[in-house]
Amino acid sequence: MVYENLASLILNRLKMEIQTVNNNKLIDRCNRQLNYLRISITDRCNLQCRYCMPQELIPKLSHAEILTYEEILRVVRIATRLGISKVRVTGGEPLVRKGVYHFLKQLVTTEGLKDVSLTTNGVLLADNLEKIQAAGIKRLNISLDTLSPTKYRDITGFDEFDRVWQGIEKANKMGLYPIKLNIVALRGINDEELVEMAQLSFRYPFHVRFIEYMPIGQSDFNPGALLLAPEIKSRISAMGKLIPVQGAEHDGPAQRYKFEHAKGEIGFIPALSQHFCNKCNRLRLTASGQLRPCLLSDHQENLKTRLRQGCSDQELADIFFTALQHKPSDHNLAAQDPMRIGGQMNAIGG
Ligand code: SAM
Repeated sequence: MVYENLASLILNRLKMEIQTVNNNKLIDRCNRQLNYLRISITDRCNLQCRYCMPQELIPKLSHAEILTYEEILRVVRIATRLGISKVRVTGGEPLVRKGVYHFLKQLVTTEGLKDVSLTTNGVLLADNLEKIQAAGIKRLNISLDTLSPTKYRDITGFDEFDRVWQGIEKANKMGLYPIKLNIVALRGINDEELVEMAQLSFRYPFHVRFIEYMPIGQSDFNPGALLLAPEIKSRISAMGKLIPVQGAEHDGPAQRYKFEHAKGEIGFIPALSQHFCNKCNRLRLTASGQLRPCLLSDHQENLKTRLRQGCSDQELADIFFTALQHKPSDHNLAAQDPMRIGGQMNAIGG
């Protein structure tokens, strides 16, 4: 007991020193500055993608279990003081949560936030784009794993391809930019379409991004051999030379390219095959109020309980610094295949 108290005293002292040295910014022992928070506002979704949520339903979080909007906004206010300047709202499907447009409006005006974006499956997009734009959201990531309506139903369980495509076209016409189309590359499922999807970058100013499937949470999905970014890139390169696009400093992990004369870009997100952990600038806030320093490691700090116990702003900030200390230097997931990570993508926030 005495030793435990002593250890925790030393740990707290260390934390305070790190905070002072780093000017209260979230800079970890690998010298990564965390400035990006992904927030899952719900674990619920209006699709049921085979690789994301298992077919037999996982119990959903109750209303009381998910953070209220007020709680999320408080966490974000603290986070901005620690250097978080970029937030992405995700889920589950964020647009299914009641009150989301008002929440987005409040979020966008949070002092210190420079960039607020949204990830959606696009099902509710066409009907709600005006509200999204009025809330101040300019950038969208839309998930679309196939251009075939039949395959779309097979992957997602729902016949919503046309509605999603309508939403994508409308968002483009309304000038939201960039629109990033996220495609999880799945061998034997959509790999025959990779070139066709890449061709979209000639017709539209979209950023077409290919994401490696990650073995996260419970899933009855067996992708067979993983389809990794180098193979995707080599298949797409058959269309023409991919010219590298220089990213900005805190741009995220996508490797960006462009075909000559294309309106849009091509991106690869090699989560497994090429660690981008050394550049990772993210923290995640799960729908149930856990602060997760790495998508691919199970460590979480329980923000919700402390929030609901009425903790001070400083105590909340301390939880961020504790999470920071648990951010692994890298995940080495490819080497650990077929290990699965705990937690569900829909609740953690993809
Ligand atoms: N409902 C929204 C959507 O569909 O974009 C946001 C949540 S969804 C979990 C976010 C992203 O995670 C989607 O692009 C989805 O394809 C991706 N995703 C889900 N499970 C994944 C997995 N196991 N590996 C890689 N990406 C995954």
